[in-house]
Amino acid sequence: MHPRLTADLERLPELLEAASRHAAAFLDGLDGRPVVPTAQAPAAAPPARGVGLSAALREFAERWEPGLSAGAGPRYLGFVTGGVTPAALAGDWLTSAVDQNPMSSLDPAGQRLEQEAIGWLRDLFGLSDGHEGNFVSGATMSNTVGLAVAREWLGERRGVSPADEGAAVLGPVRVLSGSPHSSVAKGLSMLGLGRSALVPVATLPGREAVDPAALERALREADSPCVVVANAGTVNTVDFDDIRAIAALRERYGFWLHVDAAFGAFAALSPAHAHLVDDIDEADSLCVDLHKWLNVPYDSAVQFTRRRDLQARVFQNAAAYLGPLGDAPEAVHLTPENSRRLRALAAWFTLRAYGRDGYREIVERCVACARTVGAAVDAHPGLRLLAPVRLNVVCFTLAEDATAGRLAALARELADTAFLTPTVYAGEPALRAAFSNWRTTVDDTERVIKALADAVDSTRGGAPAA
Ligand SMILES: *Cc1c(COP(=O)(O)O)cnc(C)c1O
Repeated sequence: MHPRLTADLERLPELLEAASRHAAAFLDGLDGRPVVPTAQAPAAAPPARGVGLSAALREFAERWEPGLSAGAGPRYLGFVTGGVTPAALAGDWLTSAVDQNPMSSLDPAGQRLEQEAIGWLRDLFGLSDGHEGNFVSGATMSNTVGLAVAREWLGERRGVSPADEGAAVLGPVRVLSGSPHSSVAKGLSMLGLGRSALVPVATLPGREAVDPAALERALREADSPCVVVANAGTVNTVDFDDIRAIAALRERYGFWLHVDAAFGAFAALSPAHAHLVDDIDEADSLCVDLHKWLNVPYDSAVQFTRRRDLQARVFQNAAAYLGPLGDAPEAVHLTPENSRRLRALAAWFTLRAYGRDGYREIVERCVACARTVGAAVDAHPGLRLLAPVRLNVVCFTLAEDATAGRLAALARELADTAFLTPTVYAGEPALRAAFSNWRTTVDDTERVIKALADAVDSTRGGAPAA
């Protein structure tokens, strides 16, 4: 064994404790760290000769840490971002320590644990047993897997198998959606269906939710079966399609219904908001992200579908040394990867540790924070709220001269206190503040509101607020 490996192995408990102390100190410092620092790591030579773990940790802390964002912290409000709960963090560390590959029933414990976690998630979101689920790396991959199953369903309807014969066998495909997430187009590109398969459908006036009447017209015009992507929580304004109305259309027009509930599914945990996702069980395939509102580390989402048979047709990986496909195919036959980490463990830990009641509290606190910031934006003469705060995102712009450049300057001005990301909503440049981190409290909203007011004044050229 290489002497550096031998040395590190001999001191393993002590080295892990040092790494753990270092991690705890980093987390402790989250609140004081600029939310998005501008520091850049100086270059370093490639590691021809190893330095050992202690020296690697020191170098990481010196060169890279100063530039790391407080992405895990309470005021990183860009995109839709979660942090990491204590139990999720411990689960994630243990994932690496136990280093299981949960894909094959020949070594089944990891796969069983994953299915236990899937069952808990099904219960959390009110899904019926008809939905089978698997862990994937994020909502983009979850949407892509759902669309891959949809593609095979289109083939079934036409008596062909795109998985075997190639996507071209389908001819042109239509994927109808009101306000699809960008990952849907990416998924269609990866699946050989093409980004142009995505057909936008009109939304309701002043909304991001699809207009069911417009959807019906689009379905009537289509001369072959379609895929409909319904949205349960859009990223700009957290709008929800009327899934019951869409499911009623499915009775008449027979399409595959994929529901992107990446973070919106968590509305199910708040009795005041659960009606928004009452009908997601209607989905033929469903996407839920976990590294957002479940607050597990990145690299975690789940995909559900009612047609695991079609899913296995797409993802089967026949090899002499793997288990047979059978009625209950193992994970290797159901998702893109053949080998991967025990991805479920962080989710398992945090679900067990905090339960439905813990997650209800997180969701309701995030919604309350968004409402508070939304009300402050609404009350500020220099700002304009672009949509009601339906759940956990505040979408707003400057009351005057709202150019993309001025909004970017506003976001830069805020960067020490909070991270907000730009968008365009209804043709207007805007900013979004998304609340989905378990650490965010009322104190944070006050800091964000104050920083926002100061930044508006300073981008107006120092004029005091009216
Ligand atoms: C975040 C998000 C995605 C993509 O998720 P990744 O985890 O970044 O792959 C897809 N759909 C919606 C609605 C989202 O919010």
